[in-house]
Amino acid sequence: MTGERYGLAVVGAGPAGIAAALEAGDAGLRVALVDAAPQAGGQFYRQPAPGLRARRPGALHHAWGTWRRLRGRLEAHIEAGRVTHLPGCQVWCLEPGFTLHTLEAGAIGADGVVLATGGYEKVLPFPGWTLPGVVTAGGAQAMLKGGLVLPGRTVVVAGTGPLLLPVAAGLAAAGARVAALAEAADPRDLLRHATAVPLGKAVEGAVYAARLARHGIRVRWRHTVVAAHGVDRVEAVTLAGPDGARRRVACDALAVGHGLLPHTDLAGSFEVDAEQRTPTPGVWAAGEVTGVGGAELALAEGEIAGRSAAARLRGREPDPAAWATAARRRERLRRFAAVLDAVYRLPGDWAESAVTDDTVVCRCEEVPASAVREAVRDLGAGDLRTVKLLTRAGMGWCQGRVCGPGVAAVAGCPFTDPGRPLARPVPLGLLAGQADEEEEREQP
Ligand SMILES: Cc1cc2nc3c(=O)[nH]c(=O)nc-3n(C[C@H](O)[C@H](O)[C@H](O)COP(=O)(O)OP(=O)(O)OC[C@H]3O[C@@H](n4cnc5c(N)ncnc54)[C@H](O)[C@@H]3O)c2cc1C
Repeated sequence: MTGERYGLAVVGAGPAGIAAALEAGDAGLRVALVDAAPQAGGQFYRQPAPGLRARRPGALHHAWGTWRRLRGRLEAHIEAGRVTHLPGCQVWCLEPGFTLHTLEAGAIGADGVVLATGGYEKVLPFPGWTLPGVVTAGGAQAMLKGGLVLPGRTVVVAGTGPLLLPVAAGLAAAGARVAALAEAADPRDLLRHATAVPLGKAVEGAVYAARLARHGIRVRWRHTVVAAHGVDRVEAVTLAGPDGARRRVACDALAVGHGLLPHTDLAGSFEVDAEQRTPTPGVWAAGEVTGVGGAELALAEGEIAGRSAAARLRGREPDPAAWATAARRRERLRRFAAVLDAVYRLPGDWAESAVTDDTVVCRCEEVPASAVREAVRDLGAGDLRTVKLLTRAGMGWCQGRVCGPGVAAVAGCPFTDPGRPLARPVPLGLLAGQADEEEEREQP
């Protein structure tokens, strides 16, 4: 694939990227659909590994019919040569012009780019969060959807956000005992915003509520997980209620999630316009990379980005009427996403109440909360970068992707994604080779 040039490169084959690639392919562009995952689908439509021979993969999914239609269209485009799917291919740098540098397929050229790199889970620290058996909520779901395995037999699902519902329901349906679902949010906040909830989403919520009830799972609202206990792996967790009461729940796995963050590694933070264009000419963005809002919103944004890119990259002014239905869906779902963002929050004092001084907050560099607190209190650190320089928190393998929000909360400073010149860890040899190539190009 090295050196190939396409009309459009789409990074990410989740709902947003697939929708963009399909629209651009329909309009006749040659599209490269580049994705780090081994199979198309992204987080929402994560597929079991083919070797597992899942008999009913749809059983683990919501909106499976939509996925089958998307997959059918994608297969037709791939067969016709309009879309080239490059699975298992990580883009580590996007160069102006555009060249996508990938670890597995070398450099890929394109006239335009759609960034559809999705989101990742926000992970916050608490005592015991590094014990084996403590996984993220999305991680537990990925184990189940992608590997058909459970993280444990008795699982506590905790944190905040709508993702906890499908995770708890999915684990229970697959045979785990879900000992508790602890949701930090207050249901009264959700009721206050009831009119902003689209009917389809209300029905989805009711379906999950019925599934939880069927499996005997009680949702403990306004409860947060404040500790995981165990020696070699998690054996129990402590949940704290609104009245300060603490309750110990035995389990052999904890699936904990505190919401999602946009995956902005390749381009830093940006805003998009009505056509999903970023401020960089020739670059569109769609889906969770532009803000967290769910798979349906990602599909609508991907459709708009793909249609706009297809027109503009051929020098035509696009007609927004062509995507009017998707734009209406987008507006409705963005309003709903704003409601969810306001409702699903941790109590303001969780960092002080749950993160003890000896809790490791940066697990790559093994930095305890006490070091971060000292940096703030004794050394005057007031932002994440200074905390990092003084404590090494965020300097390790994850480069602050995992620990950033937790370190910021403990430090009491805002979390700002610093942006990274390399989106993925890259071997030195590859970088050195890159420099040699550039030198050769520059020589007359
Ligand atoms: C762990 C997790 C679990 C989720 N589970 C649910 C759920 O059960 N229900 C629900 O409604 N929503 C869920 N969501 C939210 C849901 O994923 C999104 O709403 C939806 O999938 C967003 O679609 P997307 O196309 O924007 O991104 P994604 O589906 O996340 O797809 C992005 C794709 O980009 C690829 N990518 C990222 N960076 C690079 C790179 N540098 N190079 C190459 N490829 C790259 C990723 O591998 C991924 O395949 C989950 C999110 C996460 C993070």
